[in-house]
Amino acid sequence: MTEEKKDKIETEKKKKLQFAFYWAASCGGCEIAVLDIDEKILDVVEVADILFWPVALDTKYKDVEAMKDGSIDVCFFNGSIRTEEQEHLAKLLRKKSKVLVAFGSCAVNGGIPGLANLANREEVFNVAYIDNPSTYNPKRIVPKKLTRIKEGKLTLPEFYDTVKTLNQVVDVDYYLPGCPPTPDLIIDAVNSIVENRLPPKGAVLAPLKSVCDECPREKYEKKISEIKRVYEVESIDPNKCLLEQGIICMGPATRGGCNARCLDANMPCTGCGGPTPNSRDQGAKMMSALASILGIEEEEKMSDEKVEELMDQIVDPVGTFYKYGLPSALINRRVMR
Ligand code: SF4
Repeated sequence: MTEEKKDKIETEKKKKLQFAFYWAASCGGCEIAVLDIDEKILDVVEVADILFWPVALDTKYKDVEAMKDGSIDVCFFNGSIRTEEQEHLAKLLRKKSKVLVAFGSCAVNGGIPGLANLANREEVFNVAYIDNPSTYNPKRIVPKKLTRIKEGKLTLPEFYDTVKTLNQVVDVDYYLPGCPPTPDLIIDAVNSIVENRLPPKGAVLAPLKSVCDECPREKYEKKISEIKRVYEVESIDPNKCLLEQGIICMGPATRGGCNARCLDANMPCTGCGGPTPNSRDQGAKMMSALASILGIEEEEKMSDEKVEELMDQIVDPVGTFYKYGLPSALINRRVMR
């Protein structure tokens, strides 16, 4: 290759955007979601180089540490923060990135890992390493920050008591919700970056609508006097609002952008889009939506016993109302005594 051609390639490369992807406490689904954009990934590669992506590229942390501050144009960070290593990487990538995007429910609102805020490290370790029926651990060994062996010291990052969202640790520029974000939302976000038309800092890169607004099911404003789980309903009407069929659907309290995909599969929305615009607490909003639909058609007022009876039918209230967002809720963890 001639020097001239090499220079040309180098200049072209310099013009490309520099992206990074990172995963913290996450299941890996957000990484797969990046590939779910199918052949459009080629368009991304056309306009951007990926400097750091542990799931796909063998770049070391020390390579990131050696980068100049702000040398990454956009970092897409998925996963919540539950270890010292994840916190370190969040801070490091914040420093190295011009724009930091919280990518997916875990980074945005804490996600399913955030339900661990119902416990603490000790309880989590007990379940994972000691009191688990499939685990044999008579010496009750659990992970430790420092273990001395004759060859030297072994270290592990500290495992925190509380799971945090990305913005509880560092300043975040944009939020891309979903578990995982849909290909359409990812492509829209990348296009806004490439075309330099990002909204003001702090924006959620998803529509200002609820899942109900995107759901085509018919609503009759009917009251319900029974709450059921999906498996308890013999035949779910695919055209009728699930809430009105007695199934808790988080649609009224959840930001859209998914085109009501779960409803399309005759399954209720479980809330991965996070709170609706202008709502501070997704669970509180859903409880209020539910309260407005619970009732007995003809009766004006339900007895306290009836209200209790209905509430008791909600088998797992925290797991239902805060499945993806306990760390960002107004009450964001169980108080441990
Ligand atoms: Fe659709 Fe669920 Fe909203 Fe009913 S509650 S309209 S099923 S999203």
